[in-house]
Amino acid sequence: MFRKRLSYNTVNTPIHTNDNSSNKMKLSLNRENIMNDLKMICLCKSQCIEEYRIKDVIAARVVYHSKNEVEKLQWLIDILQTYFNVEDNQISLLINGRLVCRDAFLVYYGISQYKYYVALKHIRNENFFIVHGNSTRDYKNTLHDLCFSYLEKLMDHLGDKQPDSNEVHLPCYCLRSEIYEDFLNSIKSTVIEEDFPSYCTFTNTWQKEFSMLKIPKKID
Ligand SMILES: [Zn+2]
Repeated sequence: MFRKRLSYNTVNTPIHTNDNSSNKMKLSLNRENIMNDLKMICLCKSQCIEEYRIKDVIAARVVYHSKNEVEKLQWLIDILQTYFNVEDNQISLLINGRLVCRDAFLVYYGISQYKYYVALKHIRNENFFIVHGNSTRDYKNTLHDLCFSYLEKLMDHLGDKQPDSNEVHLPCYCLRSEIYEDFLNSIKSTVIEEDFPSYCTFTNTWQKEFSMLKIPKKID
């Protein structure tokens, strides 16, 4: 019951199970995986992906996946910036000059939805460069954002605002380690395992940003 109540995760897509980035690259370049990816029916229903050749997808994915995570983000920001129309605030995604939907674009390159979202955020904020010296900090910020939005939801859904203090209490049977596990479940459809925030990042965000959110001690 606890698990069910705590879970916000609705989609269960398989994720890469190895945090080694060369393995991740192998997975994204695996022919069988690509064939499966190309069978995708996009939400736009115009089947924009179906005409692509495996050879082209591999070439595109090699370019993207040979980069480290920070470089990938910068590449994505650069490319999205060229597709962004400032006047109507819309992005027109292209593959080989042809207009495609977001699903098709992400599948073509093997880009995670999470990275796409982060890149888009950079563009909307007109923050086009991840300055080399700041790249680690920037990366840490995105991890922090993930923890933050989960904790915010957790507090909304399960928190019990105390009338006599500014504390918000979670049910006393909650365990931090289980909450962290649920957090990972909630992001695994959009974030690759390599990018999962650590338990330490998670609890630090909790302490810094949600110090009012407490798990009361069990009273027997
Ligand atoms: Zn489509």
